[in-house]
Amino acid sequence: MLIHLYLQIKGAENYPFYTYLTLLLITMISTVGKTGQWKTLPPLELPTVNNNISQKLHNDCETITLASRDYGNIVHELPAAVFHPSSTHDIVSLIKSSYDSPVVPYRIAVRGQGHSTRGQAMTRGGVVVDMAKFRTQRRNNGVVITSVSDEDPLINGYYADVGGEQLWIHVLHTTLEHGLAPVSWTDYLYLTVGGTLSNAGISGQSFRYGPQISNVHEMDVVTGKGDLVTCSSRKNSELFHAVLGGLGQFGVIARVRIALEPAPKRVKWVRVLYSDFSAFTKDQERLISINGRKQSSALDFLEGMLLMHKDSISNWRSSFFPQSDHSKIASLITKHGGIVYCLELAKYYDDQSQETVDKEIQFLLQGLAYIPGFHYEKNVSYVEFLNRVRSGELRLQQQGLWDVPHPWLNLFIPKSQILNFDSGVFKDIIHKRNITNGIVLVYPMNRSKWDDRMSASIPDEDVFYTVGFLHSSGFDNWEEYDAQNREILEFCSAAGMKVKQYLPNHRTQEDWKTHFGTKWGSFLERKLKFDPRMILSPGQKIFA
Ligand code: FAD
Repeated sequence: MLIHLYLQIKGAENYPFYTYLTLLLITMISTVGKTGQWKTLPPLELPTVNNNISQKLHNDCETITLASRDYGNIVHELPAAVFHPSSTHDIVSLIKSSYDSPVVPYRIAVRGQGHSTRGQAMTRGGVVVDMAKFRTQRRNNGVVITSVSDEDPLINGYYADVGGEQLWIHVLHTTLEHGLAPVSWTDYLYLTVGGTLSNAGISGQSFRYGPQISNVHEMDVVTGKGDLVTCSSRKNSELFHAVLGGLGQFGVIARVRIALEPAPKRVKWVRVLYSDFSAFTKDQERLISINGRKQSSALDFLEGMLLMHKDSISNWRSSFFPQSDHSKIASLITKHGGIVYCLELAKYYDDQSQETVDKEIQFLLQGLAYIPGFHYEKNVSYVEFLNRVRSGELRLQQQGLWDVPHPWLNLFIPKSQILNFDSGVFKDIIHKRNITNGIVLVYPMNRSKWDDRMSASIPDEDVFYTVGFLHSSGFDNWEEYDAQNREILEFCSAAGMKVKQYLPNHRTQEDWKTHFGTKWGSFLERKLKFDPRMILSPGQKIFA
């Protein structure tokens, strides 16, 4: 009560860290009794909530605290309650109860794993649906695999029906038991299926297989009216396309049918270094031009990153280069004005292709303009490759460095602008500010692998780059990174670059209109159709 009163008085949009701490303190004082145990506040009085739902609403301090933070650790919004569903039907009931409310409906935010960076899975004063809790309640293991579908010629092969609350790592392990796997991934697998599909789900496989949203056959979605609808590109297709890349605005993804293919066993993983950005991007573009899904000569993975100082040679996401070469690479970075570009590629193989994989990689590397002598290779299992970020995460967690602020900025940049971006951002803004000590990813994708009917907004060129500034900061200096992010965005805007934010964070509806461009009209229409009372995903701040 105290908190809500305080917030009403303050009218704060989100809370600076110290205000947030004060609020938490008030919550703790009011919820920890003389026994020192967490106490549950009296049941919430949400209008039209039935008994079955109210039993699953929690507002103890610990639960509220968890739902008011995310990986970004910058925005903190206190919900009124957190919902622990044990079935899709519970989610239907919760949304229906809000939709049917005779007074103002309460907002509902689905929290996948809370790995957003700007409060996208939060709601101030509304209800957070905790999908991690849902995962623990699932009766089956949340992933059901079906082999060749005779009924549906469009699905020629295998697929998995996966709960939207499931983690990709679980999907990987379960499908591998059948010798199968999805083809499109994210770099990090402890994200939820519903969470990444609400954005796009990109990684080094996207140039060839498209983002994860391009590899979905069908979904069950609970709309903002509380209707449970099965949709695909042929059945309720408007909802299907709206939800994929739809930032959680149109419905809760309850089940997803994902395309599977036979899983490879091992991976040849290569990194080569460049001093010249133009040569680096030319080679990346050449390699992603070979991109047929069935084309055996194509790479399976292509990314790239900046190396700017000795810390970036072995960062938390992957320690790849042999220790003995670290000083050699550090000298190279110094020699080239503090910046070197690393192209990263991979080719999968198994018992049958073991003999040929080296030749295929050699063939692909022929004629590339990387610096001779800076060619590194690893040979790892498929799981080790896909799960490469996890060991770094566990290390950071042990050191207490995982839960720091993450002022990330992720952009999609049209190919025609990438050289300007290098000179204006990498070599100027970043260089001058000299605070970027984390990971900066740079790699291209093919627009043809994306489906324009889906909500995800991407640049209007055949090839576009993703650039990810994946900063970690202290609690006292994240604003410096934010200022840098703003300067980068202002630079792009002044140069007329038409970049799009990935995992977008916009504050005004004008900015959202610009973000969606020609898609804004249909985005709005779909919102009015599937979530007319604007209940879902308020943390995105699109219709707030
Ligand atoms: P949340 O952050 O909990 O939710 C994100 C949004 O989706 C919210 O608006 C939420 O309300 C909505 N949502 C969640 N579940 C559902 C559902 N079932 N139905 C409808 N809406 C839902 N992204 C990439 O594309 N590629 C990467 O390589 C990549 N690497 C990452 C590495 C790390 C370490 C981290 C922290 C993030 C990374 N991401 C990457 C970003 C990631 O895709 C987003 O954080 C995304 O939001 C998924 O996280 P989540 O499952 O925790 O979802």
